[in-house]
Amino acid sequence: MFSILAAKAGSSKDNKTGSWCSVKKPKFLQKNCIGCGLCKLVCPEACIEGKEKNTYCPDYDYCKGCGLCAYICPKKDIEMVPATEEK
Ligand code: SF4
Ligand code: SF4
Repeated sequence: MFSILAAKAGSSKDNKTGSWCSVKKPKFLQKNCIGCGLCKLVCPEACIEGKEKNTYCPDYDYCKGCGLCAYICPKKDIEMVPATEEK
């Protein structure tokens, strides 16, 4: 009955969310990344790509700026910055 209301994880891949991103966005510093993949794992929009250390980065067309990736990063290698800042 409620299945029509349930959104699949990462469903924004079919529907760009970048146009209504929060006031902040993640900045992947790519300095101390150890390639653990946690950021990619927790991203609700499944918009982070990367395979090796210091290669992870989000697709800003789909990022909502929720901040989960920055929160979970064990090396603090992701900073939340104003969405207006240069990518
Ligand atoms: S802030 Fe990070 S976890 Fe949240 S949608 Fe953007 S890339 Fe994904
Ligand atoms: S959570 Fe941090 S250390 Fe782990 S892959 Fe992502 S950016 Fe790199």
